Amino acid sequence: MDIVHISAECYPIAKVGGLADVVGALPKYQTASQISSKVIMPYYDKAFTQSNTFTAIYESQLQLGDTTYNFSILTLNENTLGFDIFFVNVPDLLFKDYVYSANDTERFLAFQIATLNWLLTLDKTPDILHCHDHHTGLIPFMTQECYDYTVFKHTPTILTIHNAQYQGWFPHDKVGLIPAFNFDHVGLLDWGGDINPLASAIKCAWRVTTVSPSYMEELKTSAKGLESLLSAESDKCVGILNGIDWKVWNPKTDPFIKANYDLRNVASGRLTNKNYLCERFNLDINKPLFGFIGRLVYEKGSDLFPDAFRQVLEKNEASILLLGSGNKEQEAQFEALKSEYKGSYNAFIGYDEKLSHVVYAGADFLLMPSRVEPCGLNQMYCLRYGTIPIVRRIGGLKDTITDISEDNGFGLCHNEASVSDIVGAVDRAMTLYKDQTKFKQIRKHIMKIDHSWDVSAKQYINLYQSIN
Ligand code: ADP
Repeated sequence: MDIVHISAECYPIAKVGGLADVVGALPKYQTASQISSKVIMPYYDKAFTQSNTFTAIYESQLQLGDTTYNFSILTLNENTLGFDIFFVNVPDLLFKDYVYSANDTERFLAFQIATLNWLLTLDKTPDILHCHDHHTGLIPFMTQECYDYTVFKHTPTILTIHNAQYQGWFPHDKVGLIPAFNFDHVGLLDWGGDINPLASAIKCAWRVTTVSPSYMEELKTSAKGLESLLSAESDKCVGILNGIDWKVWNPKTDPFIKANYDLRNVASGRLTNKNYLCERFNLDINKPLFGFIGRLVYEKGSDLFPDAFRQVLEKNEASILLLGSGNKEQEAQFEALKSEYKGSYNAFIGYDEKLSHVVYAGADFLLMPSRVEPCGLNQMYCLRYGTIPIVRRIGGLKDTITDISEDNGFGLCHNEASVSDIVGAVDRAMTLYKDQTKFKQIRKHIMKIDHSWDVSAKQYINLYQSIN
């Protein structure tokens, strides 16, 4: 079976969030299961593209309304990723030092059109086109409706929704950017008066998946306007929990952490990592260390932290380290807190992949008070590294973390994304930390929980087989 993943992000080439981790891991596991799985992504001006070499295998032009753009398809010369990857180079639109910007309509339309134009030239039509998020959401419509792509009319398409908050809306006056189609069917592009690529993909894709079963259910009542559409299309929708890349996220071999460890030397290995963090960020090694890693946005609940952190830090029993970037107001608040709580709080405002691994390996607890969490990977990385997750019961967090008060529980869960729930959960974590026997028992227990892609990759393969 020949699967083509089409995505705006893929780790380690370009990563903004969990989408990259998924697209960088799932094809690897599928390829290992004898499924031919390749990735097509935009060619950006990022560190990975600067430090690798590429070969153009196809060159052509594409039409976006009245404008003609040159594009090429590139392959990676030394590919050690574990799956085939192809890059769409539209120099005028995609080759930027960022993945997303405020105005991406033309960029991702060009990406999708170039992808289909190139796929048309291949000897064999792919068995499945697997589209990820709204950036590739017009592909199911185009393969079904556009005259240029009738060859793909019977090629099954899958949409995976990694995050329904972003839908790629653009006004109908840009409809001419989409290759010609029977205008009687323009309704398939529309949702609420705009062209909505995510809604269009939900309508047109053969199957729709979300990245956890709970998120699938939650979307039926809260999906930024798409609730009724998802309810109506629920027969073709299924939630498949993300896995994590067992090879990348392995404390025994992780090259980014300060001491490698496994179950046999978890205490000393983690202490070395905690020591590094405490020295670098001027934190007290004797206090439990609470970490946060993520985008500073409303969905993640990080706006609740300034008040919650103050309440926790006033008790002078815990250290907190935050790694994140996003909302500028929040970034300023987190910077300002540094002078208030020197020695017990610090923050790294920015994106630092290596540091994130050390935080997973050195923090005692990780906070995830998300308002929305389609799957969440951080909590699964925590488990693998022996950091106890503190999560709100929502989306994938609900599907992966069991509270210590329940049978075989191993995490700290709270119901609301609120300051008082965060502080209450931290208090419970402090109590657990004081009981070092139980704390260490849980730490060892969570490191054995298997969230590798093996199980989920099989679920995707079953899904492919059901429509092929
Ligand atoms: P989302 O995709 O909503 O951002 P996920 O939990 O699915 O959330 O994935 C987040 C990924 O991004 C994780 O791999 C996490 O470690 C990483 N990450 C987020 N923010 C940062 C940051 N500032 N520095 C390094 N890694 C980060």
